Amino acid sequence: MPLIVQKFGGSSVANPEKILRAARRAIRAQQEGNQVVMVVSAMGDTTDDLLDLAAKITDRPPAREMDMLLSTGEQVSVALMAIAIHSLGNKALSLTGAQIGVKTDASYRKARIKSIETARLRKSLDDGNIVIAAGFQGIDDDFNITTLGRGGSDTTAVALAAVLRADACEIYTDVDGIYTTDPRVVPEARRASRISYDEMLELASLGAGVMHSRSIEFGKKFDVPIHVRSSFTDQPGTMIVADPERPDLPVSGAAITKDEARITVQGVVDKPGASLEIFSRIAAKNISVDMIVQNVGESGRADISFTVPQTELDTALEAVREAAKIVQAEGITSDANIAKISVVGLGMAKQTGVAQKMFRSLAEAGINIQMITTSEIKISVLVSRERAQEALRIVHRAFELDRDPQAGSQLPRASEATSSKDASNNANARNEIAAAVVARLQSMNMEDLTIDDVSLDSSQARVTISGVPDKPGLAAQVFEDVAAAGIFVDMIVQSHPSAAGVASLSFTVPKDQLKKSVEAATRIGQSLGCKGVTSSPNIAKLSVSGVGLRTHVGVAIRMFKALATAGVNVEMINTSEVRVNVVVDGTSGDRGLTELQSAFADVLR
Ligand code: ADP
Ligand code: ASP
Ligand code: MG
Repeated sequence: MPLIVQKFGGSSVANPEKILRAARRAIRAQQEGNQVVMVVSAMGDTTDDLLDLAAKITDRPPAREMDMLLSTGEQVSVALMAIAIHSLGNKALSLTGAQIGVKTDASYRKARIKSIETARLRKSLDDGNIVIAAGFQGIDDDFNITTLGRGGSDTTAVALAAVLRADACEIYTDVDGIYTTDPRVVPEARRASRISYDEMLELASLGAGVMHSRSIEFGKKFDVPIHVRSSFTDQPGTMIVADPERPDLPVSGAAITKDEARITVQGVVDKPGASLEIFSRIAAKNISVDMIVQNVGESGRADISFTVPQTELDTALEAVREAAKIVQAEGITSDANIAKISVVGLGMAKQTGVAQKMFRSLAEAGINIQMITTSEIKISVLVSRERAQEALRIVHRAFELDRDPQAGSQLPRASEATSSKDASNNANARNEIAAAVVARLQSMNMEDLTIDDVSLDSSQARVTISGVPDKPGLAAQVFEDVAAAGIFVDMIVQSHPSAAGVASLSFTVPKDQLKKSVEAATRIGQSLGCKGVTSSPNIAKLSVSGVGLRTHVGVAIRMFKALATAGVNVEMINTSEVRVNVVVDGTSGDRGLTELQSAFADVLR
């Protein structure tokens, strides 16, 4: 019998009427011949209310007791849902995370799922019940209740769909799918019919609160198609699957991380190990860092800037102060009043001119870009918080994300394009994948980091323009001129302006375009009043790719550590959900690769 997982978010179970509505939907799915597992969140704002209650007693509650408290929200919902289904004349059984056997590690408030028992779920389903699982919670080895982090019910749902090898995983929420950006901020945002796991992972971790990013990691790792749809209508929503909606378009979504903070460690002695010292101390506090940018240093010293969630700023600063003494930094600055705007798209990896379009649109509105980092499938910029929502809207418009891309969406969907022979081959392939998934589930913790590849790219060179004045429009001008010279740019990094109010702008280009690039950069630098141009003809880009790179805060640290031990200095870095790239001196490429391969040997699949 087909099995379907249906998850209902807080707003979809906010009152008794909504609970009954969700109950009817599950009953209908069962009557249509499915076994049904429901995953439910706490009602409405319950989790926020519980947090407020604790905050009225103390601002430092023990994490274990917070999880004990927060888990009650979901327990109320599962019980009421079971009561609702019974009242409608059907069989239902509610279960807490502990009763199901959702085993997690012991990191309260951010616990990761290690394994999920299926025996009791299967038996209850076979007895004809609709099984109602509490989202967001589990139990550690010592039977302590744990929670998975805000929004974690999505992760419970996709994880259950993975272990039960469900035929469908439906996420019912208060929007009718995934939009090109948050429709509450940009009303002209458009619903996508489909989005790839990689794009959704980026968007989720960059602020699109619609899905918990770890749920997408599960989807990708265990091949679970996720259907995000409205709990109030029967309209089809958005499928989150392997392939993007429009591979030919450079950008498929935009996101805003409103509550971001920047830290700059000034005048760090530029030698291997400095970054490691700083970031390992932050990672030890389980804080994830983004947008790491090193200002290529003068007189052997560099500024290292990065962003952390605003709520973690104080804790991160504590860690940075300790590290600053050891790396002999000259100072620390921070800014809690910034936001990060990002655009994401699998298609941008193969196109030119994407970054400059974003920079130009912001320049025209007079919005200053404080920092830039790019990865293969995303571009992030830092702007002041006051102008962030406006910036999101401007960027959204610049990439015409409000337009219906139907015209070009004639690409056959995999299912339509296949013959029956292909279809049976596909079915076999799927069964093989499923068997492999089960084998993998038994051999490891479900949310462990997995690395697919460690690689070296020696085909690029670096150009740096230093002393770039901190004014709107400079980045746009530089990259328009570079593009006009026919140069293909890969990584872009703009540092936070130094104490003297100037930034450095670095980018990588194919080696055979270096001469042309330096000429262009020199010309541009002079016309814009920059200080000078330096370049490195021989750089090596080392990359680690896999699943869980950003939610596992230790990945960049492992890289820094391996490279520092081998005496290799990191010149540039960029991180995304699926890949961390570091640029090092070209003569260290092979050595760096060997070091990284052994540093990640235990998680390489
Ligand atoms: P639930 O309670 O069902 O888990 P959430 O509040 O966690 O729902 O997520 C739904 C909300 O996510 C929407 O109301 C919407 O404002 C917000 N959101 C942010 N970014 C996006 C996006 N790209 N597409 C759709 N919704 C988004
Ligand atoms: N109730 C939890 C929260 O509000 C989990 C969830 O809704 O997904 O974060
Ligand atoms: Mg949610």
